[in-house]
Amino acid sequence: MNHKMYDVIVVGAGPAGLNAARLLAGKGLEVLIIEAKEEVGKGVICTGIIGRETFEKFDVSHESIIQSIQKVKLISPLGTSIFYNHPFPFAYIVDREEFDNYLLELAMKNGAEIKLKHRVINVSVEKDWVEIGCKHTEGELRTYRGKVLILATGIEYELNKKLGLGYPARFLKAAQKYSRCNSNEYVTLLLGNKIAKGGFGWIVPVGNDMARVGLMTEGNPKIGFKHIIEKYLQEEEYKDLQLKPIAQGVVSKTFRERVLAVGEAAGQVKTTTGGGVYFGLLCSEIASTTILEAFKDGNFSKKKFSTYEKQWKSKIAGEIRTGYIVRNFCGRLSDHQMERVFNIIQSDGFFDYIAKNADFDWHGKFLLGFLKKISYFLNLLH
Ligand SMILES: Cc1cc2nc3c(=O)[nH]c(=O)nc-3n(C[C@H](O)[C@H](O)[C@H](O)COP(=O)(O)OP(=O)(O)OC[C@H]3O[C@@H](n4cnc5c(N)ncnc54)[C@H](O)[C@@H]3O)c2cc1C
Repeated sequence: MNHKMYDVIVVGAGPAGLNAARLLAGKGLEVLIIEAKEEVGKGVICTGIIGRETFEKFDVSHESIIQSIQKVKLISPLGTSIFYNHPFPFAYIVDREEFDNYLLELAMKNGAEIKLKHRVINVSVEKDWVEIGCKHTEGELRTYRGKVLILATGIEYELNKKLGLGYPARFLKAAQKYSRCNSNEYVTLLLGNKIAKGGFGWIVPVGNDMARVGLMTEGNPKIGFKHIIEKYLQEEEYKDLQLKPIAQGVVSKTFRERVLAVGEAAGQVKTTTGGGVYFGLLCSEIASTTILEAFKDGNFSKKKFSTYEKQWKSKIAGEIRTGYIVRNFCGRLSDHQMERVFNIIQSDGFFDYIAKNADFDWHGKFLLGFLKKISYFLNLLH
């Protein structure tokens, strides 16, 4: 038994947990990060597309940027291509391992400790602390105590359940692998029910004629991926395909006394694209502010921590809900209806609308306007 009392224990060393750790350690709190993997960022399944705003708003690694995104090619279910060139680079493709390790470096510079190869399997909330039980990869059991616990465990929800916290009711299935590609110029998005019902596929070049190729779908990702291989890739096999679910929808309870959940553990993920890094960073900042106030007041009650949920929901719950409705609407379109949408986009000044209104991280307002325009034209065509 380790009797040291930490101020904050963060479980999960992804962007959300690491950002919270660095902010709290930076304010003088004693922070312990617990991570199941043997290295931070190792084997992370992510396309690594991060919007400009993240680099402007947060202290994140510019060194992790592989290239910028300005040109996008959309391919319709029946094979029509739309080429879109945004007025400026609106997002970047990053190396997630480097991105996450930079945040770790900052957290450790601020005094945070990390225990790798520790999987938290038990958790109990006591009157004056939270206790976690971890299994080391070599089999040893270890216990740690902290006054506050942050759950930043991504897509793994066992601890949410043990603590009586909420977890997402719905998921999309995603798959990705590295593959050879023809074009290093465009990020290609692939639509259609065969490839990705209710979602989309992607070919994201990362240099040297290689790309991160993947999809998120309501259907079977392996079948969707087979279609991508057949139509768009030079490789004919899909070994090394990595599968992972993506959380969808607003989670109902992300706090209790002494505990907060952040990042994908709290469902803080865009329901349109499946991107979770930006919302995770944003909400971990809100979590840190709540925790610092709790330490100032010596109050770790459920009521005190409820302000976290109020604040993060007032910022992004509307986005999550709107994104979900719009993506669902698109998922119900047949391939022929989608083809009609493509024709409308090409012919009716939609590019101007996109260039003026689209925002990589905030989709709600843009999407509602876009849907209104599209519905108008689809009705005319009926
Ligand atoms: C195919 C695919 C592509 C994606 N592409 C993008 C993209 O381009 N842009 C984007 O913004 N997002 C993308 N995402 C989503 C993004 O990867 C996640 O939303 C993001 O990583 C969530 O960050 P997090 O910090 O909440 O959790 P994570 O990054 O998942 O980190 C959680 C950490 O917790 C650890 N952990 C879990 N349980 C325990 C435990 N019990 N004990 C100890 N440690 C534990 C895990 O090992 C992990 O390291 C993609 C997702 C998928 C599946």
